[in-house]
Amino acid sequence: MATERALSCIQPTGTGQLHIGNYFGAIRNWVKLQDHFDCIYGVVDYHAITVEFDPANLQKQSIDVATDLIACGIDPQRSIVMIQSHIPEHVELCWIFNCVAAYGDVQRMTQFKDKSDQQAYVTVGLFDYPVLQAADILVYRARAVPVGSDQDQHLELTRGIAQKFNKRFGKVFPIPYTGGELRRKLNLKGARIVSPADPERKMSKSYGDKHCIGVMEDEKSIFKKIRSAVTDIGPAALNGEKSPGVANLFHLLELTAPTEVVEEFESQYRQGTLKYVRLKDAVHEHLMDELRPVRERKKELASDPELMKRILRDGADRARALASDTLSEVRRLLGVGSF
Ligand code: ATP
Ligand code: MG
Repeated sequence: MATERALSCIQPTGTGQLHIGNYFGAIRNWVKLQDHFDCIYGVVDYHAITVEFDPANLQKQSIDVATDLIACGIDPQRSIVMIQSHIPEHVELCWIFNCVAAYGDVQRMTQFKDKSDQQAYVTVGLFDYPVLQAADILVYRARAVPVGSDQDQHLELTRGIAQKFNKRFGKVFPIPYTGGELRRKLNLKGARIVSPADPERKMSKSYGDKHCIGVMEDEKSIFKKIRSAVTDIGPAALNGEKSPGVANLFHLLELTAPTEVVEEFESQYRQGTLKYVRLKDAVHEHLMDELRPVRERKKELASDPELMKRILRDGADRARALASDTLSEVRRLLGVGSF
């Protein structure tokens, strides 16, 4: 049986710095998926231009994010690593899907509501973002889309678009697994990390630096952000119900520390004797242990910019071969395209 295809992407938004939400929520799983699927990992620069961005830095940021992915353990020999704009078929399929997706369905996407609230100027591209995302996935006929749970709603929309297209024009697209299905199938943890400065919100590149802890960030600065992470007035005051900030610290500890360490802190929490500063210092220590090898690999890779360019050109060639195959079939079924 042919191996199924997996695809996942990340945006070079903000300063283009990968944060630990991206790492624990997505990229750590992407590395594991390489053992089960033919994987394609993309840096989606056409998504990044849906919000404010700096054209002078975008290309550099895209290459930087791709370098981070490889530093995290994505193997460019086994997997395809590409930059979205190098494969124009993504946007072509997006336009076609614009004419398949229902306006009312796209209007229900909560990410648009969150993101448009933060923009002084809201583009049509930001609204259309989930349709482009559907094209990113389906142009490679990917079934497995390992994303953080913040993307589950977009994945549902992608499934709907694939079903509608297949029904109307002919069966071209496999229906991707839902986020929950894939996480269960592969026993992946769907970590959702929140902002240390405002634990009511998810950690997000586009919310700004104080809301993110960068994978490659200076260690002193990481330490400061963890030390000043919002908690609450103490375990005794909350009837055993952890506030979102404290739950986030425990979550990070679970993701990085041995079980005995987590249990010891949990037990102190239950007894009402836990000092949050000690929990924070443990989170910092174990997080840095997890990130150290990634940070070292990044340094090595960044010292050879030509190598990254070669990897990305090769990735684009391999991706384009697959995408143009899909588009030929789609154009034929729609009755468009050159002859
Ligand atoms: P932006 O603010 O520009 O949307 P982002 O920080 O949300 O950036 P994306 O590039 O949109 O990052 O997402 C890349 C991957 O990281 C996706 O699979 C997404 O589900 C995952 N992800 C993003 N933020 C988190 C988070 N806080 N916790 C867990 N996973 C996350
Ligand atoms: Mg996002």
